[in-house]
Amino acid sequence: MVNAKDWLLIGQKFHGHKCPAMPNGLRVAEAAMNKLGVERTGDSSLHAIVELGDNHCATCFADGVQVITGCTFGKGNIEKTHKGKWGLTLIDKKTNRAVRALPKAEAMMQTKKTSFFKDYREKGVPPTQVPDEVVQPLVDKVMNAPAEMIMEVSDVFEFKWNEPKHSYNSGACEMCGEMVIAEYTVIQNEKRVCKDSAV
Ligand SMILES: [Zn+2]
Ligand SMILES: [Zn+2]
Repeated sequence: MVNAKDWLLIGQKFHGHKCPAMPNGLRVAEAAMNKLGVERTGDSSLHAIVELGDNHCATCFADGVQVITGCTFGKGNIEKTHKGKWGLTLIDKKTNRAVRALPKAEAMMQTKKTSFFKDYREKGVPPTQVPDEVVQPLVDKVMNAPAEMIMEVSDVFEFKWNEPKHSYNSGACEMCGEMVIAEYTVIQNEKRVCKDSAV
């Protein structure tokens, strides 16, 4: 069993500021992991699909998901579907099982009405400059609310995982000399070159 509270401080450190959305990612991912019965992954045994887009509120959610699940941009076992939603599908690749979990709309709508959003974020105040007394109650609320109040979690369902081939095929570009993965190169004038060097 994972506990979101064990990851709050490291999550805030990684994320860079206090806000309600990162903890929301911790809680939703915690629920998905415990429903699947999986621990945080140090390799790529889990894969996370988040439905977030770009340039919208509460994308901080994804950092909570990354921190607690171990599904990270660096390992490549997290992806966005750009739907502008907060659903998380967490896949246990070893067993081809998955869970979809998401914050409840009513809980997020309530947060939207708070001073944190109305007086600060929507007025363009950066999250690092919101007073602690304004944001801390929102963090506490997300971290302490009973799961059924703030999120929906699906039953476990089958998700057939097809592992993409992992390339170790790297070498120096024959034009600029920088390291590049062969699958990302093009042949130009009989030289294998990176996309930056291709004309
Ligand atoms: Zn944030
Ligand atoms: Zn090059």
